[in-house]
Amino acid sequence: MKQSVRVRYAPSPTGHPHVGNIRTALFNWLFARRYGGSFIVRIEDTDVARKVKGAVEAILSSLRWLRLDWDEGPEVGGKYGPYFQSQRLDLYRKAAERLISQGDAYYCYCSPQRLEEMRAEQVRRKQPPGYDRHCRNLSQEERAQKEAEGVIPVVRFQTPLEGQVKFTDLIWGEVVFDHSTIDDFVLLKSDGYPTYHLASVVDDHLMEISHVLRAEEWLSSTPRHLLLYQALGFEPPQFAHLPMLLGADRAKLSKRHGAVSIVEYYEQGYLPEAMVNFLALLGWSLDDKTEILSRQELIKNFSLERVSRTAAIFNRDKLAWMNGVYIRSLTTDEFFDAAQPYLMTDELAGEALISNEKYVRALLPLVQERARTLAEVAELTQFFFVGKLDYAPDLLIGKGMTRESATQALKAGQQRLRQPEAFDAESLEAILRPLAVELGLKTGQLFGTLRVAVTGRTAAPPLFQTMSVLGKERCLRRIEASLDRLRRLSK
Ligand code: GLU
Repeated sequence: MKQSVRVRYAPSPTGHPHVGNIRTALFNWLFARRYGGSFIVRIEDTDVARKVKGAVEAILSSLRWLRLDWDEGPEVGGKYGPYFQSQRLDLYRKAAERLISQGDAYYCYCSPQRLEEMRAEQVRRKQPPGYDRHCRNLSQEERAQKEAEGVIPVVRFQTPLEGQVKFTDLIWGEVVFDHSTIDDFVLLKSDGYPTYHLASVVDDHLMEISHVLRAEEWLSSTPRHLLLYQALGFEPPQFAHLPMLLGADRAKLSKRHGAVSIVEYYEQGYLPEAMVNFLALLGWSLDDKTEILSRQELIKNFSLERVSRTAAIFNRDKLAWMNGVYIRSLTTDEFFDAAQPYLMTDELAGEALISNEKYVRALLPLVQERARTLAEVAELTQFFFVGKLDYAPDLLIGKGMTRESATQALKAGQQRLRQPEAFDAESLEAILRPLAVELGLKTGQLFGTLRVAVTGRTAAPPLFQTMSVLGKERCLRRIEASLDRLRRLSK
């Protein structure tokens, strides 16, 4: 690529960033990193009514969580700043004034009420929506009168009535729009703030953006932007519109499909590397089969040629599977570090972390194989921390067993475990395997009963390792409690 790559992620701070929105950020970031360009963050905060407090922080912390570092933008600055549109109002006003003086834009005095009626009328007549150009040809006097009445106008673009806008989208190919389908859209609102169209064109030009990578929903805005570039005499960037994101039911991804805000994925214990890998495959692929790609591999291979036009399906099961893959690939220490904040939010696990970190470090590897999210870890390990297990006593009586045989098995187990032998997994296995034979039980029966006695669960991490980490005292105490339960179980 000859031209130096400058791309931007331009979120509006209207709430917590949506996964689709962060996918856009990621694609821009990958594109910049792939071609040694700059990744710019620009906050599009010109819609005063929709601004949400804390949203900018949520956006930036989501980027930080995913390690999508930006070269210019909030906090880091840059020579094309400021990077908040609300601090650039003068630039948009000047552009609008220039368009008015050139005859490419005009003041519109229509009241909200008139526009409302016009819209209702269009609906009734089944006409396409759009401004009816009422103020396009106001006379000097009419305008003076409106001004005298104190009406504060908006500025509208004077869209050419005939002709077409044509452009080549890097993903969609040639796109053509007839001017007749574009109304005289607003550039400056009556509060002096620009609309998205004006601000985005002025900034993409002034910030020397080379490529605009954004969601498909903006494809239909691009002809307006091109008209503005032309009228302002700016050279337009190249455009690439990223395919839509759908839920598993093929409806547009929304709250209905569960978590859509990226913050929720952090809270549920997804690893940022898994999230980056997963989001990168929403519309892009290396080939048709590779699923697991590291950040470096993504950067090395990312290209717009492999971005598809087909809507991408947000498959939650795949994300959970991928997260499991990434969790399993962590070293024991990394897994401990990653899980720690999640364990801290659980009372018992949190206490154990503070009072006995060694114990927690020893037990965590036992669930690393099974955890699909970090938030799940507290639940999977809960039995390690509780003082008293809570389970139905008949779980102790495995298939083909009776209360008597379960009692006998537990008593025999208890006795063997009391012997002063080592309590590591291997020794435990060497003690308990032969015991099953002696008792005339299948190993599954004996181990199943013991598993319930020491963990309260029928499914738990490998038995001997679990017992070894729980330690002799705890195991014996729990077996004693299980015998007690069996005793109280009515026949
Ligand atoms: N502020 C717009 C958004 O929230 C930016 C669209 C664009 O990238 O041009 O998605």
